Amino acid sequence: MRYYSWKAELLRVGVPLSLVAGTCALFDLGVLPLLVAAVLACAWLLRHLQRLSDWLYGGAKDDPPEAVGMWGQVFDVIYELQRDSSQNSDRLQAMIDYLHSSFASMSDAVVMLDPHGNIEWCNSSAHDLLGLREVDDKGRQLVNLLRSPAFLRYFEAERYQAPLEMVSPVNSLINLSISVSFFGRRNRLLFARDVTRTHRLEQMRKDFVANVSHELRTPLTVINGYLETFAEYGGENGRWDRAVDQMLQQSRRMNLLIQDLMLLSRLESVPKLADESLIRLRPLMEMIREESGTAAKGQRRIEIECDDNIAINGNANELRSAFSNLAVNAARYTAENDRIILRWYQDDYHAYFEVEDTGIGIEPQYIPRLTERFYRVDQSRSLDTGGTGLGLAIVKHVLIRHRAELRIRSAPNQGSVFTCVFPKSAAVAV
Ligand code: ADP
Repeated sequence: MRYYSWKAELLRVGVPLSLVAGTCALFDLGVLPLLVAAVLACAWLLRHLQRLSDWLYGGAKDDPPEAVGMWGQVFDVIYELQRDSSQNSDRLQAMIDYLHSSFASMSDAVVMLDPHGNIEWCNSSAHDLLGLREVDDKGRQLVNLLRSPAFLRYFEAERYQAPLEMVSPVNSLINLSISVSFFGRRNRLLFARDVTRTHRLEQMRKDFVANVSHELRTPLTVINGYLETFAEYGGENGRWDRAVDQMLQQSRRMNLLIQDLMLLSRLESVPKLADESLIRLRPLMEMIREESGTAAKGQRRIEIECDDNIAINGNANELRSAFSNLAVNAARYTAENDRIILRWYQDDYHAYFEVEDTGIGIEPQYIPRLTERFYRVDQSRSLDTGGTGLGLAIVKHVLIRHRAELRIRSAPNQGSVFTCVFPKSAAVAV
C-alpha cells in the first residue's frame, strides 16, 4: 500500500486554490471565485468524511469506498485492521469452541465462572454431578445453586490450594473432589471429580485396620497374661527364661502397636472434635516430663517454659497423647545429659506447644515424610528405642482436628524442634 503524507494532500487542495487565487489577482476578479473554490474544497472533504462515517456505521464489512490520496489510505488501513481483528476473533472463537468441546466430552464436571461468580458455561457432567443445567443456569450465581455449607466456605475463602471433598448434591452416594482455580481477570474454573471409588477403598482400608486391631487385642491380652505368669514363675531354665522374656517384650510391643493403630483409627473415623475443655498447660507438661523421663534410657535434663497466662481449648486426652508422643520421642532420640525443653507460648497470631531437644537430629530430606505411618529415619534405631512408627502420624491427626499444624526444624547432631502451631482462637487467657 502506498503511503501518502500530509504534504501530498496539501498540494492536492493547495495547488488548485493557489491557481484560483492567482487568476483572481491577474484578472482582478475579486475574492468571490476564491471563496467558491474554498467551499468546493470543503465540500469535497465533507463528502469523504460522510462516506467514511457511512462505511464505519455499516460495520466496515463491505469493501472500502474508492478514494484518492490520504482518504483512500485511511479507508484501506481501517479495512486491513478490521480484517485482522475479525480473523483474530475467528481464531479465538475456534479455540474457545475447541476447549468447550474437549471440556464437554470430559467425565469430570467443568464450570466456568465470570469474575462475579456467575456461571458462564458448564458441561453435561456438571448436570450429572452437581445438578447444574447448561442453558437454564447460565448467568446465575453458582453459590445460589450449590448451597452446601462446606462448599460455600471453601468457595468464598478463595484458598484453593487443596481440593474440597464433599457429597454430590444430586446423589448422596457420590463423593466429589472439587478444585477451583483462577484464570483471566479473576474468572474461575471449577472441576468436580467423582471419587466415590477411592473414597470407598479408603473407608475399607480404615475399617480393615480398625477391625484387625480390635480383633487382635483379645488374643494378645491372653498371650501377654500367660507370658507374664511364665516370666514371674520362671527361673529354673536360663534359656527358657530368656525366650519368655523376649516373647514378653515383643508381645508388649505388639500391644503398644495395636493401641496406637486403634487410636489412629478413632482419630480418623470421628472427624469432629468432641469433649473440648480448657486445659492448663503446666500440670500437663509436668506429667509429660515424668512420662518421657521414664521412657529414656539414662538421665535427661527436661525443662519447662510455660506461659501460665494462657490455657488451651481442646480435647484433653488427644492433646496429652500428641504432646507426650513428641516429648517421648525427644527422650528417645537424645543421649544421656542432652537437654530437652517443653515450651508453651503465644505471639500475635498463634499459640505454640514446642519440644526442643539437643539430640541426634534428622537429615533435611527425611523431614517431609516423618508424619507418614511407619516411616522411620533409622529403622534399627527406632525399633531399638521401642517406637511403633505411628507417633508422629498420631500427632498430625490430633493437630488437624484442632485446626493446628506440626512444624519440624532439625539438623543432624544438633537437635530438633517439633512445634505444634495452634490458631490464636485455641488459646484462652486465664
Ligand atoms: P517412632 O515410634 O519410630 O519414634 P514416630 O512417628 O514417633 O515413630 O517418629 C518417626 C521418626 O521420626 C522416628 O523413627 C525418628 O527417626 C524420627 N524422630 C522423631 N522424633 C525425633 C527426634 N526428637 N529426634 C530425632 N529423630 C526423631
